Amino acid sequence: MHTIIAGGGPAGWALAAACARAGVRVALVDPAPRRAWAPVYGVWRDEVPGLPDSAVAAVPHTVLATAVTTHTLDREYVVIDNAGLRAWLDHPAVEVITGRAESVTRGDRGATVRLTDGRRLACAVAVDATGARRALTGGPARRPAEQTAFGLALDEAAAERVTGHSPGTAVFMDWRPAHADFPTFLYSLPLGNGRTLVEETCLAAKPGLPQHILSARLRARLTAAGVVEPRGPERVRIPLDLPIPRTLAFGVAGGFAHPATGYSLGTALRLASPVAQAIAAASTPREADRAARAVVASAAAREVHALRRFGLRVLTRLPSAQVPEFFEMFFSLPPDRQRAYLSGREDLAGTAAAMTGLFRRAPWRIRTRMV
Ligand SMILES: Cc1cc2nc3c(=O)[nH]c(=O)nc-3n(C[C@H](O)[C@H](O)[C@H](O)COP(=O)(O)OP(=O)(O)OC[C@H]3O[C@@H](n4cnc5c(N)ncnc54)[C@H](O)[C@@H]3O)c2cc1C
Repeated sequence: MHTIIAGGGPAGWALAAACARAGVRVALVDPAPRRAWAPVYGVWRDEVPGLPDSAVAAVPHTVLATAVTTHTLDREYVVIDNAGLRAWLDHPAVEVITGRAESVTRGDRGATVRLTDGRRLACAVAVDATGARRALTGGPARRPAEQTAFGLALDEAAAERVTGHSPGTAVFMDWRPAHADFPTFLYSLPLGNGRTLVEETCLAAKPGLPQHILSARLRARLTAAGVVEPRGPERVRIPLDLPIPRTLAFGVAGGFAHPATGYSLGTALRLASPVAQAIAAASTPREADRAARAVVASAAAREVHALRRFGLRVLTRLPSAQVPEFFEMFFSLPPDRQRAYLSGREDLAGTAAAMTGLFRRAPWRIRTRMV
């Protein structure tokens, strides 16, 4: 079942490699298919059970979250080695095409992907993995809420002065100091090379909080700790509330980004193999397309996505002062409830239980917002 994947980010490569392993003839189209991925990625290790050590740059010894008080998260979080991940996802049977996909037509007998240079590529199954651009799916009608962040890689000693934590600690979020408006938090990860990423993050805003506010806040932290700013910032902009599309898409394009965290990599790495197997097992293009969509856009995934988007709306409407309080409640939930909310893409019962647990713990002033 010849499959064309538009988009050579981690999601596109993961699916291409899985297709090749499943015996599916596969081509990947991207304007720069071998360009190195720049972001610093972190994933919960239990989301990607087969992740090899060669794709891991660092494993923090402790993962902390500070809202009102500090919580130690009992879950392994790993920092990805992008070159190692790419090497793991490279498969010699993947045909690599340099080009930009523009549109797709799908029918009973397969699909045709049109590139901007006029080429037409016929295939049985076409997958949009072009990230937030959603070149073959169409962008969102409304401007989505966004996560934005500004980060710098510091040497470990300087980072320790900024975060207050020993080298090798990951700070999932630290909401101190409180800001009167546009709440932001510190995110910090050991990079495995003697350096630590420190990032000022706005979890969700519509539109996303501008970079100049984030960079000013991070620089204020550096100044307070007496740290000289290094070069080469990481700038993050992740659209959060993209819907799961009706047509076949994978990764961010497929609505994998968690509406409250922006994370999608773990889901893409985990679903690549089941999607490839669904394509491999089908006997017609239509059946392959339908079977693949059943994996990435099941009824349960859609319902959980709707609940998570509701959670995002609550979050973006909370007054600044209540945001740390909200996360204090979240990190006080039992670990399995937290995990269900963060990672249970099809766990409707777990997601609903986490949200109900939050509601029960919330003081009335937050409850009324949730209602
Ligand atoms: C700085 C940063 C840090 C992040 N950190 C994390 C993290 O820690 N954990 C996490 O889970 N997520 C993180 N994310 C979210 C992140 O977007 C995804 O995890 C990941 O990059 C998504 O992979 P993807 O392949 O779906 O999309 P992308 O990585 O966006 O890849 C899309 C690909 O499609 C290609 N493309 C675009 N248009 C076309 C076209 N018309 N035709 C063909 N190809 C096209 C692009 O060139 C690109 O290669 C982060 C994002 C950023 C920006």
